[in-house]
Amino acid sequence: MIRKTIAVILLLTLSSAVLTGCANNTDASGVCFAMDTVMSFTIYGKNRDAALAACQAEVYRLDALFSATDPRSDISRINAGAGEFVEVSDETAELIERSLSLSKTTDGAFDITVYALVECWGFISGDYRVPAADEITQLLGNTGSGTVEVQGGCVRIAGGQKIGFGAIAKGYLTDRIWSILESYEVSRAVISLGGNVLVLGDKPDKTAWRVGIEDPFTADGYFGVLSAADMAVVTSGGYQRYFEDDGKRYHHIFDPSNGYPSDSDLVSVTIAAKDGTLADALSTAFFVMGSTQAKRYYDNSDGFEMILVTKSKEVIISAGLRDVFTLPPQNGFTLTVTG
Ligand code: AMP
Ligand code: MG
Repeated sequence: MIRKTIAVILLLTLSSAVLTGCANNTDASGVCFAMDTVMSFTIYGKNRDAALAACQAEVYRLDALFSATDPRSDISRINAGAGEFVEVSDETAELIERSLSLSKTTDGAFDITVYALVECWGFISGDYRVPAADEITQLLGNTGSGTVEVQGGCVRIAGGQKIGFGAIAKGYLTDRIWSILESYEVSRAVISLGGNVLVLGDKPDKTAWRVGIEDPFTADGYFGVLSAADMAVVTSGGYQRYFEDDGKRYHHIFDPSNGYPSDSDLVSVTIAAKDGTLADALSTAFFVMGSTQAKRYYDNSDGFEMILVTKSKEVIISAGLRDVFTLPPQNGFTLTVTG
């Protein structure tokens, strides 16, 4: 039996301020569906209506550019033209370059060329299946970003390769939305793009936004709460999308080194950063890499904080979150601070 679960809103703001704002008519709220995700917006300030419209237009613009299933998108055209240089928008070329660089720094744990594997396992069509070992081996031969070339506004992937922005597009969208909100002089907003949340400023009652980090074991409710301002908060976890076959669970985050759903010691990874693109890529990569390598990466770089949850319910937070993350004593989670 094959079963599919999608956790729609993965990170929820615990604040009731969103509703309070609506009641007071001081915010503009909207919901839209794109990138396989329900996206919600609550924007405050004098330009809130125009800002909301501009943010939603941006969602659809980037969806059209990056969708791997719309044949007119940049990504589909690159995939269809595998082996040849394909002219794309500067934005697509730049996000591919960023992806290649993140592949390098994560030792290949983040890799946009896993798309063919994601597709083969049925995560694009919804026709989930466990591929035969030789199918996986064959696709693995075409996995790896070393063959992806960007020259000016043109991109070439190797014949047989396919790329997808599933692990980074919403992070990039978060950055774009932030910049649009700034251009509309919006300093207070909460935006939820599935597992990607953006909180700007504080709540109307002047207290901090509280972002609930979903319990990866129950996918229902929160295990901890992060107080945040002017921050992108992104969570990746195997519980967010998976199917079951013959009693075994297969999730949507792949280990590019073996072609199977990754099997590190982690069940969820949350990254908080000013750079939403970085946060999105690292949350996926760390989930694949596991806690030891994630801690090493944290020690050797800056610009983000992290919350790792292990299979044994250990919650490992980076030092910068010590005063802003709360773990209520419940459900057997233990807290460790690293870095
Ligand atoms: P996220 O929810 O940001 O962790 O991204 C997961 C999505 O990115 C999956 O649904 C796949 O489409 C794609 N993906 C899966 N594994 C990887 C990986 N190792 N590197 C890059 N993208 C991936
Ligand atoms: Mg990601």
